[in-house]
Amino acid sequence: MTLTKEISLPSGAKYTQPLGLFINNENVDSSCEDVVKSYNPATGEAIVAIQAADPKKDVDRAVKAARDAFGGWKNLPATEKRDLFYKLCSLIEENLELLAEVESLDTGKPVETNAKYDIQELIAVLKYYAGWIDKNNGQSFVPQPNKLCYTVHQPLGVVGCIIPFNYPLAMMSWKWTAIATGNTAVFKSAEQTPLSILFFAQLVAKAGFPPGVFNVISGLGETVGDSLVKHLGVNKIAFTGSTKVGQIIQRNASVNLKPITLECGGKSPLMVFDDADIDQAVKWTAFGIFNNMGQICSGTSRCFVQESSYEAFLTKLAKHVEDEYIVGNPIHAKTVVGPQISKDQQSTVQKYIKIGIDEGCRVVLGGLGLPEIVENDEQLSKGYYVKPTILADVKNHFKIAQEEIFGPVIVIGTFKDFDDALEIANDVQYGLGSAIFSKDLVKCHKFAHNVEAGMCWINSSNDVDINVPFGGAKMSGFGRELGSYGLSNFTSVKSVYVNLGDQL
Ligand code: NAD
Repeated sequence: MTLTKEISLPSGAKYTQPLGLFINNENVDSSCEDVVKSYNPATGEAIVAIQAADPKKDVDRAVKAARDAFGGWKNLPATEKRDLFYKLCSLIEENLELLAEVESLDTGKPVETNAKYDIQELIAVLKYYAGWIDKNNGQSFVPQPNKLCYTVHQPLGVVGCIIPFNYPLAMMSWKWTAIATGNTAVFKSAEQTPLSILFFAQLVAKAGFPPGVFNVISGLGETVGDSLVKHLGVNKIAFTGSTKVGQIIQRNASVNLKPITLECGGKSPLMVFDDADIDQAVKWTAFGIFNNMGQICSGTSRCFVQESSYEAFLTKLAKHVEDEYIVGNPIHAKTVVGPQISKDQQSTVQKYIKIGIDEGCRVVLGGLGLPEIVENDEQLSKGYYVKPTILADVKNHFKIAQEEIFGPVIVIGTFKDFDDALEIANDVQYGLGSAIFSKDLVKCHKFAHNVEAGMCWINSSNDVDINVPFGGAKMSGFGRELGSYGLSNFTSVKSVYVNLGDQL
């Protein structure tokens, strides 16, 4: 089969897209004829077909490559591992513009205001975990003079990393912690976004990582992903994606009791109190849901405002979103809102907007149909755009307030007082992010301590930092990525007892 194809990017630049599987540092043919097709979400045009892995033969092949590489990688001196990470970062930096454009082409992310940040995050995360490679130490204990005990943090073996479409390279980077802690890995890309990781893989080989340390397979979740999760040669699954698939993975991973981490969906609350700086609240509320076209797991998509500030907040938010969240072609520098990832996702979001209207919500901004600027453009009108939408007068029991939409839609209602706000915030099956706006910091901390979520932003939203753990509670999953906490996902603790004396 064809292993590469020259692709023209919207800017006019050209690059060579690998089309095969990336195993043992090589772009190789799949054992089957299956493909995943990549589309440009901004225009609906097909870009290229990528070879999908055979769920049996190729998953075995990739796992074997990772297993064969494990001993060598685990035992490579930490400084040598670290230098490879830094070399890789330099190569990404050299290719930043290109990688951002490829990511944009495959996902619809605006290049300047979105995709470039993802590539910068990729570099920052790799550098951060490069710094941890020689510092992930255990503890030592001297319980008695003739006894020394210590712990070592050991890699698990082969890690299967399953990533979603919304941040293909950035979410991948969070799972490079597996490699930094001495494991080898098989990554399965999301079927909607197979391009950038295969291009990135060429840089991994160029940086000099030993063959088999990092492998990439493309394909459908139900077949290729399923086979990776059930594989007896895989020691751990790190998954980011929907709660529905997370539940399947939890069941399937029981085949050899492999540990899993699940970073799943959310419906995160954002509460605005009367005593908040309303302008700040407006800015962060917009950022917390309209960034990345609302395809944000921790998006604060469920907003409640204390009664007396409600109408003023709605008016200011609508104006701010209209002014700042410019819909358009991802290649234009000023565009902030591009298309949704797929036609399916475009229909799902429209379906939810309709449900909200039918449930009695008031459309304050956006609503059904295509954004005007897109409707009048011959090419973009075939893309998967939806209008940034604000639905007001929501009650928390509405379907639209309880289910993850994963698009640029915020639902807004009111609350009476602190207890009411906390009850509404917690009355949802998810528990990923949460946010509170108030100048009363005692109230804010009380909220943060009692909200059932993995993260709480006080006077901001989705302000993610690589030092700080990211992850959820309830049906948003378990395990933490980023920060030093992220290291424990990929190591097991071994306790060693040393008898220094001569007694029993
Ligand atoms: P998804 O669950 O449909 O797919 C995620 C990945 O799982 C894909 O690679 C897919 O191919 C694979 N997959 C699907 N079925 C599988 C199976 N049976 N076995 C193994 N793998 C399988 O999610 P998506 O649509 O790509 O991403 C959107 C979802 O991801 C949203 O729910 C969002 O909230 C969530 N997400 C969570 C986080 C987080 O950190 N908590 C971050 C980003 C996205």
